[in-house]
Amino acid sequence: MNEYEDIADNIKRIRETVENARHHAQRSDDVRIMAVTKTVAPDRINFAVSQGFSLLGENRVQEYLGKKDAYDKSAQVHFIGHLQSNKIKYIIDSVSMIQSIDSVHLAREVSKAAVSSGRTMDILCEINIGNEPSKSGFSADEIFDAADEIREMQGIRLKGLMAIPPAGDSVRYFEKMRYIYDDLKSRMDGVDTLSMGMSQDYAQAVICGSNLVRIGSALFGARIYR
Ligand SMILES: *Cc1c(COP(=O)(O)O)cnc(C)c1O
Repeated sequence: MNEYEDIADNIKRIRETVENARHHAQRSDDVRIMAVTKTVAPDRINFAVSQGFSLLGENRVQEYLGKKDAYDKSAQVHFIGHLQSNKIKYIIDSVSMIQSIDSVHLAREVSKAAVSSGRTMDILCEINIGNEPSKSGFSADEIFDAADEIREMQGIRLKGLMAIPPAGDSVRYFEKMRYIYDDLKSRMDGVDTLSMGMSQDYAQAVICGSNLVRIGSALFGARIYR
């Protein structure tokens, strides 16, 4: 049988789950499903791409650089991991969005790199919605001032927000994120992306208004290392 049958089954289940959540929430807008690729071999990633999961999420610059040439050309890549300023140059020309902008400083560095590459980079600001010391991101209190600064920068376009809420109590944090997102959207043109929801909680995220869910293990299977 097909060696990618597990992925095919998972894709079917994920699509159904997202559809059910959309109906439950009476939503008519689209929800994008991202395939999160960390630790996954390129042939398995390309199978997902061939089944229409063509939006890929990359966490680690090093791993991404080692794999990207093997990816199907129709894949589109967003960077979703912690990004150090000195690594921006390795990804600026090949990803279409950076979802993990966690400081005004990083936004400024991406802006500079985009300008010198002659391109415009779409970005999301990551919100540390649970105020967890172990996670990076803007607090809910500082995001609006930060967004005002970021919107003045050349070469980048602020498209919305991303979050990884504390494990266990996602719904409460998804609702908070939705509230901040709606506020940002009402203040700024071009904001259209709320990226939240992972393998354990993407149905709830869609019910709470996420329009981009990021799915790794529920798609490709459990990771041996993180
Ligand atoms: C790993 C990761 C995911 C996917 O996690 P799963 O629980 O495997 O779905 C989503 N977003 C980010 C930022 C990640 O690092």
